[in-house]
Amino acid sequence: MIVFSDRFPQPHHQQQQDPGQDGSSQPDPPAASGLEPTPLHLRLAAARDFGGLRADPPPATVALPSTASDVTRAIRAALSHQTLTLSARGCGHSVHGQANAPHGIVLDMSSMRGSMAVIPRVANTDPEQAGSTGSSYFCVDVKGGEVWEDVLRFCLQFGMAPRSWTDFLSLSVGGTLSNGGVSGQSFRYGPQVVNVEEMEVVTGSGEVVRCSERENGELFFGVLGGLGQFGIITRARILLQKAPDMVRWIRVVYADFDDFSRDQELLVTRASSESFDYIEGFVFTNSDHPVNGCHSVPLLPHQTFDLNLIPANAGPVLYCLEIALHFANRDDAKTIEKRVSQMLEPLKFRRGLKFSCDLTYYDFLQRVKSNEEAAKANGTWDAPHPWLNLFISSKNIQEFDSKVFNKILKNGIGGSILVYPLIKSKWDPRMSVVVPDNEIFYLVALLRFNKPYPEGPSLQSLLAQNQEIIDCCTSNNFDFKVYIPHCNSQDQWKAHFGNQWSRFVERKAAFDPMAVLAPGQRIFPRVQ
Ligand code: FAD
Repeated sequence: MIVFSDRFPQPHHQQQQDPGQDGSSQPDPPAASGLEPTPLHLRLAAARDFGGLRADPPPATVALPSTASDVTRAIRAALSHQTLTLSARGCGHSVHGQANAPHGIVLDMSSMRGSMAVIPRVANTDPEQAGSTGSSYFCVDVKGGEVWEDVLRFCLQFGMAPRSWTDFLSLSVGGTLSNGGVSGQSFRYGPQVVNVEEMEVVTGSGEVVRCSERENGELFFGVLGGLGQFGIITRARILLQKAPDMVRWIRVVYADFDDFSRDQELLVTRASSESFDYIEGFVFTNSDHPVNGCHSVPLLPHQTFDLNLIPANAGPVLYCLEIALHFANRDDAKTIEKRVSQMLEPLKFRRGLKFSCDLTYYDFLQRVKSNEEAAKANGTWDAPHPWLNLFISSKNIQEFDSKVFNKILKNGIGGSILVYPLIKSKWDPRMSVVVPDNEIFYLVALLRFNKPYPEGPSLQSLLAQNQEIIDCCTSNNFDFKVYIPHCNSQDQWKAHFGNQWSRFVERKAAFDPMAVLAPGQRIFPRVQ
């Protein structure tokens, strides 16, 4: 049974006025849907997301499904009316209104959480498969609205954890699996979308389907990175590994991008026994600016960054390699130290600019939680976030560095500029998500946290800067893709998907023929 939401908090910066598509007031939810009305403030809150960039009309209804059958009922309600659409909303951490369904139905997936289960599995049980080993492993079954930090807490009780993460864990399983889900473990295990064994999905026709690589594979791979276009994920089975007890977290600094990226690529291509368990990196300004500069590098309050150790001819930006090694409580401290030293020894970072600390695995995975708290305290969490995420081919990353990091972004962005390599062969090409052609490509993430204008820069100037970067990539023929894409026309979507576009369209026709799902992505108009 569908229960109507009363859980959304009162939105910030929004008036109690119902903006219709044309600015006129919003009609009541269509009677044909059979759904009851939701109070306006809850609908406004459901339309708002982390980006805070769009002022699209709110949904007509917000529903809290408890089961896949509830999702089916909501989809059938949408199908029963000519124009109604429906979106799942995980945590609403989208930037461009992707989880909204203007005048439609938003499913608040926070009602589909809890009741997780660790499942023992046996590999290679296919009798026809030669060399079947029957080795065992574990997965966790979670609901589609589950939040990754709760998945972590649950699995740690059993000494286990998912293998692949995002940096920030207050994101829903359904939300990250609809995009990709990347972090410093992705070079080894691939993104989160390749760490799923099976899902339960409700298609755009309202059918509840169990899918995996072997069973309904087209739907399975379509949904992974599918931007919510082919079905609502109501359950996912995630691969687990044994969780380490502790992590050695290290940051080292480079003045030269070639040295930095060469070392990053060396580390992500080494055998796992000879490398770190987590590899990321970021760009910061060659200054003592409190947000954009060298103070963003040390890990502990007593650690200091000596800018005198940076050569006088260094450019306007510097680079920080961020790496981590897992270890167990019982491991000998000297052995860990020796292993770390051996792995760091060939790297060309600035000696004297190494920062390190040991922390529990849980605290490491929750390392950006304190940034959320700080941003909430200083007012940058609720301000607009014109974020930009790109995948840039390794063959273009040096030129990108000189044209973008050292010119367009030379003064920083008021937040983190992440840059780290990923490995294409760890991504399954059958999934919907598209990546550059090169075997090694970089995630570049502009995580802007600015105070609202006029205390901070104007939103228009930041959006213009994002566009300038995209234009720079296009005009220089870089091999690149926007990650967590948003486009303004179907032609732009076509260009984004490139030769995968026809497959995407075919999957839409097969699994959501009336184009009811995820209208906030603005890919397919509702079929009437
Ligand atoms: P929502 O914004 O609620 O939804 C996103 C899209 O997925 C919508 O189209 C929605 O309809 C669809 N959707 C949601 N749930 C379901 C479901 N159950 N079934 C089908 N479709 C569904 N990404 C990374 O890869 N790595 C990071 O390190 C990372 N860090 C981030 C840090 C912050 C602070 C923020 C705000 C975002 C970060 N992201 C990161 C981006 C994040 O992965 C995406 O924005 C993701 O979509 C957010 O999940 P959500 O639950 O908030 O999704």
